[in-house]
Amino acid sequence: MDNATLSGVRSLLATEDLRPHKGLGQNFLVDKNIIQKIADAAQIAPHDVVLEIGTGLGALTLYLAEAATRVVTVEIDKKLIPIIQKIFDSRSNITLITGDILAVNWERELYGFLIGPQDRFIICANLPYYITSPIIFRILENKQKVKRAVLMVQREVADRLLATPGTKDYSLLTVMVSRMAEVELVTRVSRNCFYPSPDVDSTVIKLVPRSEPQVAVEREEVFAALVRAAFQARRKTMLNVLVNSGLADRDIAIKTLESLGVEPKRRGETLSVEEFARIANKLT
Ligand code: SAM
Repeated sequence: MDNATLSGVRSLLATEDLRPHKGLGQNFLVDKNIIQKIADAAQIAPHDVVLEIGTGLGALTLYLAEAATRVVTVEIDKKLIPIIQKIFDSRSNITLITGDILAVNWERELYGFLIGPQDRFIICANLPYYITSPIIFRILENKQKVKRAVLMVQREVADRLLATPGTKDYSLLTVMVSRMAEVELVTRVSRNCFYPSPDVDSTVIKLVPRSEPQVAVEREEVFAALVRAAFQARRKTMLNVLVNSGLADRDIAIKTLESLGVEPKRRGETLSVEEFARIANKLT
């Protein structure tokens, strides 16, 4: 049975009397064109080790395993395991880990799959959307061991990741991620490419961690608090953001902003990552 077609996925689930589990974000890819686009965007060389998040029925896994030396794939749903094991039966370069990717200790349980000390994972995933943000931050925490990540995410999340200052999608997520990684759009994906069709549109993005953050900050927690405060009150001026969040009193806030050439009346949602960093460094 073909695990990357609508009829194949339905038949495979029927063999174990299963239905897609909505709460686990089970929207299986049933479009080989999109699967191929994800694999192509990952630019896998024969010596690469790929980490896949959310095996599902292995539709993407098999494509990745054609190109990589090894695919380590993590699936939380124990009920899918008997089906996947049969599909992977003859593939010796696929390692299936059953468990919650958010509970996996990367250093202890995943780094060992990399062969040389300089090796880094290529991550590929048709993500379960309920864990998109934590996964992106987990990838960034492990960025020294990640070459790139090609991720299917909800369209709204992709729009936020790709947004520029002053636009409605520019957000806390944009600033925190773009400081640590370059993000590019790979392709928009119609709901019809999944079984079952999700309630939202999707987009494939490529995230490439930067070797150094785009701008240095002296204290990460001050930078994070500043950006969070700015986007919690995105219609407020930066002066009010600084004062209301307790990050500075009025006089210091005015002096800080003016000394950096940031008009105190500007809204936080118009500030670039560099401007946030410069303000945070002055407050430190
Ligand atoms: N890769 C398959 C595909 O493209 O057809 C399945 C993708 S489906 C959108 C997401 C998969 O992630 C599901 O199989 C789901 O059970 C699994 N999943 C959900 N939460 C997970 C978690 N916390 N850790 C690991 N896998 C998870």
